[in-house]
Amino acid sequence: MSPEVYGGRAKCLQRLIRLDMPVPLTVALSFDCVRDIAKGRMPDLSPVIAPFGFAPLLSVRPSSLDPDWGGPGAILNIGMNHERHEALALTAGERAATSLYLRFIQSYAVQVARLDPDPFDLPAEPNRATLKAMLDAYENETDEPFPQDPATQLAEVLRSMARAWDGTTARLLRQAKGAPADAGLGLVVQAMALGVGRGESGSGVIQFVDSETGEPRITGRYLGQSQGREALRDRRDAIPLTRAEGSPSLEEVAPFALRELLAHGTTGRERLREEMQMEFTLENGRLCILDSVRVPRSPRAAIRIAVSLAQDGVIPREEAVMRVEPGSLSSLLHRQVDPTAPRDRIVTGIAASPGAASGRIVLAAADAQAFAARGEPCILVRRETTPEDIRGMHAASAVLTVRGGVTSHAAVIGRGLGLPCVVGASHLEIDRRRRAIIAPGGRIFHEGDIITVDGTAGEVLAGEAPTLDAALDDSFRTLLSWADEFRDVGVRANADTPQDARIARDFDAQGIGLCRTEHMFFEGERIGMMREMIFAEGAQARRAVLDRLLPMQRADFAALFRIMAGQPVCIRLFDPPLHEFLPSDRQSLRDLAEGLSRPLSDVEARVEALREYNPMLGLRGVRLGITVPEIYEMQARAIFEAAVLAGRDGEPVVPEVMIPLVSAKREVELVKARVDAVASAVRAETGVAFAYRLGVMVETPRAALRAAEIAQHSAFLSFGTNDLTQMTYGLSRDDAGRFLGSYVEQGVYEEDPFHTLDLDGVGELLRIGASRGRQGRPDVTLAICGEHAGTRRAIEFCRREGFDYVSCSPYRVPIARLSAAQVSLCNRRLSEG
Ligand code: PEP
Ligand code: MG
Repeated sequence: MSPEVYGGRAKCLQRLIRLDMPVPLTVALSFDCVRDIAKGRMPDLSPVIAPFGFAPLLSVRPSSLDPDWGGPGAILNIGMNHERHEALALTAGERAATSLYLRFIQSYAVQVARLDPDPFDLPAEPNRATLKAMLDAYENETDEPFPQDPATQLAEVLRSMARAWDGTTARLLRQAKGAPADAGLGLVVQAMALGVGRGESGSGVIQFVDSETGEPRITGRYLGQSQGREALRDRRDAIPLTRAEGSPSLEEVAPFALRELLAHGTTGRERLREEMQMEFTLENGRLCILDSVRVPRSPRAAIRIAVSLAQDGVIPREEAVMRVEPGSLSSLLHRQVDPTAPRDRIVTGIAASPGAASGRIVLAAADAQAFAARGEPCILVRRETTPEDIRGMHAASAVLTVRGGVTSHAAVIGRGLGLPCVVGASHLEIDRRRRAIIAPGGRIFHEGDIITVDGTAGEVLAGEAPTLDAALDDSFRTLLSWADEFRDVGVRANADTPQDARIARDFDAQGIGLCRTEHMFFEGERIGMMREMIFAEGAQARRAVLDRLLPMQRADFAALFRIMAGQPVCIRLFDPPLHEFLPSDRQSLRDLAEGLSRPLSDVEARVEALREYNPMLGLRGVRLGITVPEIYEMQARAIFEAAVLAGRDGEPVVPEVMIPLVSAKREVELVKARVDAVASAVRAETGVAFAYRLGVMVETPRAALRAAEIAQHSAFLSFGTNDLTQMTYGLSRDDAGRFLGSYVEQGVYEEDPFHTLDLDGVGELLRIGASRGRQGRPDVTLAICGEHAGTRRAIEFCRREGFDYVSCSPYRVPIARLSAAQVSLCNRRLSEG
């Protein structure tokens, strides 16, 4: 019996029967049969009903391919009628028989005849009078007596369930859970195990692991004189399964049944190769297993279950790795808003960096630092962030911006810092005058009010929402170490600070693939020195200021090399336009003039001179390296001196130096000549013959097209897909968020290309760049280091095209490791046929 034809529930029941579990007689109807029923072509039901004998009592349950797709609710007690009621009253007792009849009339009236539920509420007292009242209500509503023929009842039940599956709402709901448009429904017709009677009777649900943690623990409930999942619904009277203080338990009421259930649990785990939840019934002391589904599980439990099944030899490691959804790891790496807590949502935006944090609203970076200095958590709320906000971001517990998309400044820095971040909350207004934020609907929150940023869901909540800790337990680490055995794409981290590097190392990144050095110049006194350097007259004066920055950069790099302990560290030379280091408001300009002892007009003139219409396409990256060479020379010296220092007391370091925004071979030649000269000087000064690798960041279309000649001077090419996407589309990565929603809605773009790697256009440039790069230098190392790099799509692409590694935010490293393993395991399966 194939689950593609009869559904997962039917398949599972067949397996339980083959394992000799006490499953009541079951008949399965296929997807095709149910499709026919929905279209009004009812098959001859006699072969369905015949196996159940004379006067059957039946249940019908849905059986779709994936139980998570939902489906119509089960209908129990089909076959109840006046005659059966009388007979059952003699064997099971008057009250039990009446109760069953009432329950059936209720579900038939509401789910099959689709009547208003109010007149069919179950009465507190099941007796002949209340039964008559309900039968009368049915007749009043339908002008027909309640159907008495079991075959008619069954046909109507099947028809209503088949049609419910076909309804638009049900279809949309399951499609949202990943079901294909033409997903089929099977139906399972089963003999009822009554759960009511004179001997010990009832029903319950049991599972053998905890749904939250995945640890072994018998959980579930049992309710005497009940059916279906009533034990879970009616918590007041339901009892635990194992001995518990202050309450009777199934272990005391029916110890033999619990023993039998435990034995079935062990068999089920081993033979079904899964942790199952079982629905069971006791009928006068006799145990029946009615149904079994995968234990519902949190992401944390999913890992623990998969790992322990593999450790017990029930499934191979490969399968454990395949069973965990990589995206679900994200919720374990960060604090999360407790999913069971109520949410007072203020506004939604783009979930730019996962995790949750609460704190007081601050509207300026400097205020965030003041809060941090007092040890008070705060949330930095900005229209958008700029490099000047970096220190404030470091100080804040989370960041919220009104503008921006997934590759905007706030998003990139937030992910790098592991800081929960919501961007593009465009319905939020910042009212500077009132020092407040105004949410949709006019709710006002003032500076100092507490809010919670849920960067996983992209939501902002009022007040301090309860949160759950990150959960990096042994199972998590074991699963990822298995993933590493199977993957063949390397995973490095984008890390700029020692804190990032430690996270990268802790998550077993295979080195740093991108260290954006510019962030280092916004720290403390350094921004002042940068400004001095920008205002210096001539190379000599610039060098003098840079000499003061040199020891700081050297210390930055030495710290990264030491933390990464011999792993490769790729340092990107200075990238942003200098303009970003200058203040924009009048007071800051005045402060700067004062600090530099220059007239305000001089400062304003310099700021004006540096202003560009299109700074992202202006004097930045290697263009600065060519026109203001002292900056790169200082950085190269800092890198090499740091490598010598770190290599003296630790693992030898082979630093990688990366040139950003290249578009021509000559740029690389010029920078390479200067960097080589610095390396020779440092070798001569220190007497240490270190090696280093020079590479190019391919992020302009021209660099991809001319990769053959560029690669001749490059040990590696790392594709910066953020800028490459921006330039391929001619679409500003900082402004696109304003209209991309409408573009995606109208199907102009399938997805936000800054979020989902565009395999067609940008992908073609990547393919061209890679193959031409290899033509120019067959052993060139190829990598992707834009924000796409940690996604399965990019990893699949890299594997197919023979790239060596991806480099992503530190917190995405575990997700990328698991995705990379799954991609190569899927591929292996395909090639093995
Ligand atoms: C890129 O452009 O893809 C990249 C990684 O660099 P940045 O985001 O710093 O411009
Ligand atoms: Mg870039």
